[in-house]
Amino acid sequence: MATPSTDVRRHPERTGDAALVREVLDEALIVHVGTVRDGWPVVLPMAHGRDGDTLYLHGSAAAGVFRDVRGGSRVCVTATIVDALVLTRSAFNHSMNYRCAVVYGEALAATNLDAAVRAVVEHNLPGRNADVRQPTEAELRETGIWQLDLTTASAKVRTGGPIEDPADLDLPAWAGVVPVRTVLGEPVPDEGVTAAPPHLRD
Ligand SMILES: Cc1cc2nc3c(=O)[nH]c(=O)nc-3n(C[C@H](O)[C@H](O)[C@H](O)COP(=O)(O)OP(=O)(O)OC[C@H]3O[C@@H](n4cnc5c(N)ncnc54)[C@H](O)[C@@H]3O)c2cc1C
Repeated sequence: MATPSTDVRRHPERTGDAALVREVLDEALIVHVGTVRDGWPVVLPMAHGRDGDTLYLHGSAAAGVFRDVRGGSRVCVTATIVDALVLTRSAFNHSMNYRCAVVYGEALAATNLDAAVRAVVEHNLPGRNADVRQPTEAELRETGIWQLDLTTASAKVRTGGPIEDPADLDLPAWAGVVPVRTVLGEPVPDEGVTAAPPHLRD
């Protein structure tokens, strides 16, 4: 089977490079993992981690998506950051500023479990590994941990303001850019924990 095309055809000027693929994967809280099951596409949200040009996925070894990839099946993984809503005077021209990555590859059982688990734990909260107990052999046996090369990947990015039809410019509708941010709220400590560790305070 041929390698899937990673050429962005619509707005090719919005194509990003390998650094943007990594940036989007690092910033996205989750990815969506697409597999084919009994002839149907299945796309499920998952946590992830990255170490160099390797993307890691993990979960219960019994999870459907890990049954799908047993033996190294092909997957498509996407991550998206919405940076802004772009509002125009016409309904038709509304858009979003975004950074997006698509990765194709063969999901293989992770060869370095320690690196894989650390990458996933570290992903959403840098510094977290230093604070927590690492998995036991038994916990690792219950976990499906997969790795994927970032070699067949693309990134696409839109920045900037509204793109209007000239004839719409005199319309009274509000137009402009509304930034979108994902922020962590104030931590709510569990019973019995003391002061928040530095990686939470910072
Ligand atoms: C933010 C987030 C992060 C997650 N991170 C992970 C992770 O790192 N690892 C992991 O293994 N799982 C993760 N999950 C859960 C994951 O999406 C699946 O639910 C999980 O893999 C178990 O699937 P399953 O084997 O029960 O279902 P499957 O057998 O894979 O799916 C059977 C059917 O269940 C339904 N289904 C399954 N999952 C979902 C869902 N999330 N939402 C709606 N319908 C669903 C679908 O209709 C699907 O066809 C995450 C979910 C969320 C929302």
